[in-house]
Amino acid sequence: MSRFFLLVFVFLFVFSYVSDNTVHAEAHNETDNIVFTEYYNPDANIIISNYYDNYIEILSSALENAELPKNISDNIKLNIDSDTAFINSLFIIMESDPYLWVLVDKVRPLSADYEPQDLIRLSNSSYRVNRADLYLRKIAELSLDEMASAAREEGLTLIVISAYRTYGYQADLYARYVSQMGQREADRVSARPGHSQHQLGTTVDFNSISSTFATTRESRWLTANASRFGWSLSYPQGFEHITGYIWESWHYRYVGKDLAEFIDKYFEGIQQYALRFIHEYINIFNISAD
Ligand SMILES: [Zn+2]
Repeated sequence: MSRFFLLVFVFLFVFSYVSDNTVHAEAHNETDNIVFTEYYNPDANIIISNYYDNYIEILSSALENAELPKNISDNIKLNIDSDTAFINSLFIIMESDPYLWVLVDKVRPLSADYEPQDLIRLSNSSYRVNRADLYLRKIAELSLDEMASAAREEGLTLIVISAYRTYGYQADLYARYVSQMGQREADRVSARPGHSQHQLGTTVDFNSISSTFATTRESRWLTANASRFGWSLSYPQGFEHITGYIWESWHYRYVGKDLAEFIDKYFEGIQQYALRFIHEYINIFNISAD
């Protein structure tokens, strides 16, 4: 183990000694469904007492279990060996709201009764809304406002056409797709109930649910800028075999600036890879999301 790691562990040990109670008390209050014990938060106490010797092994196992492309996982291993930037970023992300990084995909659903507690109703401001009953979590709305203002300065208008969806709404929506196109095609374009990122209250469909959206200036601006504001394209072009969904150039999930940067820097911009890695990482600490 290099001197870098020793330094970071010593720092974290001191930091955690000072701030232990307050940090964890807050974490308990901020989350509802997820049991956010300190195990979630792989900080100094846990690492030093239990995992000091095999922390790097844990990271390697998580990388392996996430079944990432070899170049991505090799590159991360190289980073882990050479400095602490990757680990530092991971620690910061794990201290954020778990619903920013929880994996919600074809095989890992949210519970049917998960409902964010801080939804706010959207209305026309820096962004536009195409109907009155659209809601987002506060944390996502704040960032959306910041992002839409920046887009506006370049003469572009971001329109929210879909945001928070309840489990029940998604069940109806999915059933409608199935009746229109059959289950196999429906599964390519729509999530089954519980499996939609829209249930998180942090996900937005922008402007137009159409493949032509990708050719617009708004779409190109989002591609180039969204991650600066903490937004990540969930279903990129050419990744249906990874995400399970066709390219959705309009569908962005708010993950926070730290995670968005982490995705770009280490996972070639592929959100699914990064969230799968985090999912496998917390699995090793024996944590479930409910
Ligand atoms: Zn969507």
